Amino acid sequence: MSVGRTKLYLLDTNDFANTAAHRGITSELYGGDAEMRLKQEIVLGIGGWRLLRAVGLDPEVCHLNEGHAAFAVLERARSYMQDHSTSFDLATNITRAGNLFTTHTAVAAGFDRFDPELIRRYLGHYAKDELSISIDQLLAMGRQDSANALEPFNMAFLAVRGSGQINGVSKLHGKVSRHIFQPLFPRWPMEEVPIGSVTNGIHVPTWDSAAADALWTTVAGKKRWRGDRAKEDDVRQLTDSQLWDMRMEGRRALVNQLRKRCAGQLASEGGIPSDAEFIFDENVLTLGFARRFATYKRPNLLLHDPERLVRLLSNPQRSVQLILAGKAHPQDLPGQILIKQWKDFIRRPDVRGRVAFLTDYDMLLAQELVQGIDLWINTPQRPWEACGTSGMKVLVNGGLNLSELDGWWVEAYTPEVGWAIGDGREHGDDPAWDATEAEALYALLEQKVIPEFYERENNALPAKWLGRIRESMARLTSEFSATRAIREYTESHYLLAASGYSERAATDSALGISLLQWQQKLAQSWSTVHFGNVDVETQDRQYLFRVQVLSGDFNSEELRVEIYADQIAGGVPIIQAVTASGTSAEAGVLNFTAQVPANRPLNEYTARIIPRHANASVPLEAGQIIWQH
Ligand SMILES: *Cc1c(COP(=O)(O)O)cnc(C)c1O
Repeated sequence: MSVGRTKLYLLDTNDFANTAAHRGITSELYGGDAEMRLKQEIVLGIGGWRLLRAVGLDPEVCHLNEGHAAFAVLERARSYMQDHSTSFDLATNITRAGNLFTTHTAVAAGFDRFDPELIRRYLGHYAKDELSISIDQLLAMGRQDSANALEPFNMAFLAVRGSGQINGVSKLHGKVSRHIFQPLFPRWPMEEVPIGSVTNGIHVPTWDSAAADALWTTVAGKKRWRGDRAKEDDVRQLTDSQLWDMRMEGRRALVNQLRKRCAGQLASEGGIPSDAEFIFDENVLTLGFARRFATYKRPNLLLHDPERLVRLLSNPQRSVQLILAGKAHPQDLPGQILIKQWKDFIRRPDVRGRVAFLTDYDMLLAQELVQGIDLWINTPQRPWEACGTSGMKVLVNGGLNLSELDGWWVEAYTPEVGWAIGDGREHGDDPAWDATEAEALYALLEQKVIPEFYERENNALPAKWLGRIRESMARLTSEFSATRAIREYTESHYLLAASGYSERAATDSALGISLLQWQQKLAQSWSTVHFGNVDVETQDRQYLFRVQVLSGDFNSEELRVEIYADQIAGGVPIIQAVTASGTSAEAGVLNFTAQVPANRPLNEYTARIIPRHANASVPLEAGQIIWQH
């Protein structure tokens, strides 16, 4: 089927040609046990790549979103083997460059892991007959320690091993991911774990209201979400009354929709639908909170002190209304309990007509919400919101964000555009810290948000609030759009992946063969490399390093010597004086020299030897490293 100008292929096993046992594989997501999940991932990864080939496509770039699709790495290599009569090892070395892996979770427990026996049962034949490798070699690709036969098979590890580039979905999540995947790069500093980040962005035309669309068109034209971005100063031309009219229209539409939805919900719950006509008020500050009800998202942080929340909602001069929406996973009991807490709260007579909980949170409801909400609240426990996207959806419509400093909001927040809670550090799920943040959340609402919204001198519009909307729209909307994200993926990853793959495959896989030989040599002979003498002289405020390397089977082209110093807390970057000339005085000995600034104590510097190849990504494709000390 076509989505815009993109073709979308959906895999479905519910076909008469399949046996009954196979027909249900794609019927339910996150529904079955580990075995069902493995079958689904085989369909997605192996079946997915086969489908592309069957319809005549042979893509250069394969973007794996999350480890679920990681078997595509194997199948892509198999196609290459078949087309070019190569071994599996050569095929993976070549195709790897064309694979990009985006990790989406912020906890290692979020990765799919399978019992090795299950993998043996389902993929034993595939390994032997189709990939011509042993099942143990396949299993090793999904293990931290390839020699540990008891270790489960981790799909994210397979994706790392099979990809030429890896990224997280926000800057903070990139950092968290470097931490999570560090065990795959033993002895490498955390900062050098080869995982970058591309912050997510939302497809703005899906989420903007008609009023917002009209307003944006006046300052930035119709093509503003394609090609070039809207200029910040153009957006700043929007006047207070233009912005306020858009906000009023959005809130009015939301209140109307909400009444309809609540009437439906009341009817289905045995209440009186007409009661819904009297709930909510189109002139009242409207807070929104909608998300999956998972405990790390802390959807009950606002409920921490129910009496305080009641006071906040029912202040007759400056009242506030609150719309909640969300679902919990059917098997997530703690998540279900959080929903129940809200439902109990909503029944209180003193908040009647001021709070609603909508259970059918889907994209349609999300569209209604993000077009009318004044303040979008997000309260995850840092750093477990890998990015978060719902808050981005309000930007175009002039909604503001109050969020934990986690995910995208760490990058977006400045005092001019919204509000933040949290101290920018991790506190796990410490209840005392939750209480501190709940306190901060109430205080912000009481002292900043609500007064600013209701500041109407001489019946004027809330100038400060509107100024904040203007800055939020100007600075953040384009920045957190899919336009920016796709451009970043293209410029920083896809183009590299396409050229990397093509280079390796060109002229009968010549470069791929050279890389494979280099890797095989590293695997066999790295232990022959050692440090010899390391001398240091101080000259003109520089340390002059003379490093001798007993290079075993390697020449100076195949090794890189670096002088390294740890990052200093407070932001001074890693210092890395790179390489030096290698002249061979005697057989098997290479001499390197390097200068680094002497502005740090000498004992903070150390030399190291790592593999070198002009076309390889180190340490992703070769993790060897020898430290001087
Ligand atoms: C945007 C959206 C989400 C994701 O929101 P996050 O803030 O990224 O968790 C989930 N469900 C629906 C219906 C959405 O529209």
